[in-house]
Amino acid sequence: MSNAPQSAFAIAEQLESRLSQATRGLIINGKSVPALSGKTFPTENPATGKVICQVAEGGAADVDAAVKAARAALENPAWRDMSAVDRSKILNRLADLIEAEADELAVLECIDNGKPATLTKVVEIEGSIKTFRYFAGWPTKFGGETLPVSPRSGAKILNYTVREPVGVCALIVPWNYPMSMAAWKVAPALAAGCTVILKPAEQTPLTALRLAELALEAGVPAGVFNVVTGFGEAGAALVDHPGVDKVAFTGSTEVGKAIVRAATGNLKKVSLELGGKSPQIVLPDADLDAAAASIAAGIFFNQGQTCTAGSRLYAHASIHDELLARIADHASRLTIGNGLDPAITFGPLVSQEQWDRVSSYVQIGKDEGAEVMIGGNRPSGLNEGFFFEPTIMKNAGRNMRIVQEEIFGPVLSALSWTDTADLVAQANDSDFGLSAGIWTNDVRQAHRLAGAVKAGTVWVNCFNLVDNATPFGGFKQSGWGREHGRNAMEMYSEVKSIWINLS
Ligand code: NDP
Repeated sequence: MSNAPQSAFAIAEQLESRLSQATRGLIINGKSVPALSGKTFPTENPATGKVICQVAEGGAADVDAAVKAARAALENPAWRDMSAVDRSKILNRLADLIEAEADELAVLECIDNGKPATLTKVVEIEGSIKTFRYFAGWPTKFGGETLPVSPRSGAKILNYTVREPVGVCALIVPWNYPMSMAAWKVAPALAAGCTVILKPAEQTPLTALRLAELALEAGVPAGVFNVVTGFGEAGAALVDHPGVDKVAFTGSTEVGKAIVRAATGNLKKVSLELGGKSPQIVLPDADLDAAAASIAAGIFFNQGQTCTAGSRLYAHASIHDELLARIADHASRLTIGNGLDPAITFGPLVSQEQWDRVSSYVQIGKDEGAEVMIGGNRPSGLNEGFFFEPTIMKNAGRNMRIVQEEIFGPVLSALSWTDTADLVAQANDSDFGLSAGIWTNDVRQAHRLAGAVKAGTVWVNCFNLVDNATPFGGFKQSGWGREHGRNAMEMYSEVKSIWINLS
């Protein structure tokens, strides 16, 4: 028998044949179970529009069962009293299991979400492995402090802080990076000792379910990691549930605001990673080759369905036309098609709904007076699935909707500038503040602009670099809190101050 790796098409065929045989259940208290209503919904392959399998449609009653399981698991000594070293071991074991199944998981994400399998393997699967390994390092290092208090009475006091898990966490994630978004939340939550209910997006439930199965195999006790698949109602039921202590959400700003309102019932802790409309700022002295390649990747990677997508281009007037031509050249070299083919670098959008949304924004841009430089349509020859061409809209204006609103598709809105103060004002003229790119070889300008731009992450002469060690999140309406690093551990824990009278 040959040991040659199987092609993504062969893996997909096996997966689809296996998955089509049974409904994927919810994962509650360590078991795969049907929804209490018996309802299911289909999940489809965006490259073909065909149904992959049926998935349990969780509702309020299932959410209640999952929350009860998570609450019980929080008090289960097998989890509550687990040593930091053992918690760390489990997270590393989970990383090992993901690694062993990396090819299959990349294909599973590809058929459920549409993104090319080869890119998925690197960005989502290997990224998730790194996330679990990174947070596996925290349980043994995350603790409190001893603090020098000075009580008026003069009593001798020992004061110290400890970190305790925040409790039961509802982790609500979107469809654009399903596995990574789950890992970014599950890993720190488990590292901090919390228990979780993960609610994946209705379009992409499959890797979340597999992740929970692998976690059980890695030794995570039953009830610690639950998954409720379903629609927004399941997410809303989680946010409403008095047994949930914290909600961590990534998705649209609109739903983020609804979550804040709904979480007031028992004043849940809320962290939000919301939309973006990130500016790419290019100065006249920039390395145009490097900038063009990175700006193209920054908007067209994952078909533009990225919260940090660099979707507003501010190119200095002196290099504007040349830069746009080079970005367009990069776009023309993207290979569009079914992401199971290793030559493909640009897949379909996730759904018909998203296709309609992106298409409508191109029309809005045209109506507002912008010009379609490239793209704007379904690519010729790709008649099934939800494919949309890489698109550049030039002559965009500051107040246009295509400059102000998150399109969440492969559409770059291009503007030019001449005055630096006006450039900064324009870059900051946004409800969002997730990230920004700056392209210049002038070190003083780079630092000045990095300081002036209102964004949670600023990349200078690079774009979309993300690492578990450094905080990630947004200013303004791009969110609350920061994922990754110590910040994430703090978000999933409570700090307790303890006073011991030694007098
Ligand atoms: P949503 O914000 O609607 O969905 C994100 C997650 O929240 C999903 O799991 C969703 O479930 C769930 N959800 C929906 N409604 C509620 C609710 N009331 N309470 C709790 N959870 C809820 O994003 P969409 O998938 O609908 O995408 C819409 C737009 O949002 C996109 O076009 C894009 O502009 C933006 N978006 C931004 C993202 C980002 O990272 N910045 C990520 C994804 C989307 P369900 O899937 O079942 O609706």
